[in-house]
Amino acid sequence: MTKNFNIKLFNTDGRRLEDFKPIHAGSVGMYSCGPTVYDRVHIGNLRFVVVNDIFYRFFKAAAYNTHWVMNLTDIDDKMIAKAQAENCSITEIARRYTKVLFDDLRAINISIDEIEIVKATDHLKEMRDMVDLLVNKGIAYEASDGIYFAVDKFKDYGKFAGIVMDSGKTQARIANDTYDKTSPQDFALWKNDPDFEGGRPGWHIECSVMSAKYLGQPFDIHTGGVDLIFPHHQNEVAQSEAAYNKKLANYWLHNEFLMIEGEKMSKSLHNYLTLEDIVKKDFSPLALRYVLISAHYRTLLDFTWESIKGAETIIGDMRRFYVKSELFDSNSEFDAEAAYQKFMHALANDFNTPEALAIVFEVIGNEANIGPAGLIFMQQVDQILGLNIAQSTPEEIVNLLKIMDEARSKKDYTESDRIRAKLNQLDYEIENSAHGSYAIKRK
Ligand code: AMP
Ligand code: ZN
Repeated sequence: MTKNFNIKLFNTDGRRLEDFKPIHAGSVGMYSCGPTVYDRVHIGNLRFVVVNDIFYRFFKAAAYNTHWVMNLTDIDDKMIAKAQAENCSITEIARRYTKVLFDDLRAINISIDEIEIVKATDHLKEMRDMVDLLVNKGIAYEASDGIYFAVDKFKDYGKFAGIVMDSGKTQARIANDTYDKTSPQDFALWKNDPDFEGGRPGWHIECSVMSAKYLGQPFDIHTGGVDLIFPHHQNEVAQSEAAYNKKLANYWLHNEFLMIEGEKMSKSLHNYLTLEDIVKKDFSPLALRYVLISAHYRTLLDFTWESIKGAETIIGDMRRFYVKSELFDSNSEFDAEAAYQKFMHALANDFNTPEALAIVFEVIGNEANIGPAGLIFMQQVDQILGLNIAQSTPEEIVNLLKIMDEARSKKDYTESDRIRAKLNQLDYEIENSAHGSYAIKRK
């Protein structure tokens, strides 16, 4: 079923489309910079996780042994501020919002049980060791308030992010976690903090430590939103390469923003929506998932309520095709394997989800494709799309549909109406087609 695809990825490091060559044949290691668990994530953050989930599911479907690691930042300025505001420990804040995060990720069909989710606070010792190594190598230095990475000791600082350094300012420091992104200067590796015995880490060091610990250095693919290219990913590159004299990751994939009314969706602009807001308006989390994969991951995507309404309709059409394919057979020559290969090729081309979805529309738009081959096709593509299309009609419902159609063919409309009412009661909507009646589960 699977075959080797020529996978092309747009690598931020070098900013070009490249052939994907894994470090170990047949395997992929992928590290994603996950959220800070200080609050519920917004649907822009969910765009990042959903596109990463598509990357993961694609590699799996293409027969790669795929190891996906995602970190949770559970110690930083935002965590501390929230704990103070709510008068509890940062551990309690982390516990509370990790649970909310996992619920959201499950609802939107992220392969959460297959991700190795790692927490910054479980790696404090390793982080401190890496910081000490950088100090011993003369690349980091101690100051009164912590330990800093000396940017001018790293030859290519700025190259990864495409930023030209202003050498006159390299000793100016950025002391907090909420970095001023226009001041690419020495950054904190470790912070003295009276509330934390022995101090606490800066933000960037956790990803250098955890990615290499779980995937090795170098590893294959590092991901994040475009806002992380600088300074976060530039700093990860500087730390890791300076410490170990080898590359951190071979391919860097960055998703563009989810926008709302023309602006980046973000907490600081107060223009964000959460999954709760979506569900409150009676839209399904999977309709949001559809919206988030409907655009190429490297293009800006504007969230609108019309787009999610449209997504509900499209998912409905996909389910309808699936249900009909299970019940009927149009005996056509539909070549499911060829269509699936086309779908996979679209994704192999830097995850071109709009093109892959167009192939699905082409298939479901043709009634002649209904049947066992159509069923297999939808099952296969749904392994990657994750839209829960492949939902079988229970046997009890199929039997009732048969009895209803038989009654109708004998013009026994009292009986057929009675069965229709029963199916409605069981929460199914009955629809008719040239092939016969079928049932669609209500939301
Ligand atoms: P944060 O908690 O802000 O570090 O965000 C977690 C992840 O979501 C990072 O990879 C960000 O780049 C990504 N992200 C944040 N805002 C957006 C947005 N509006 N659209 C897409 N991705 C985002
Ligand atoms: Zn990171």
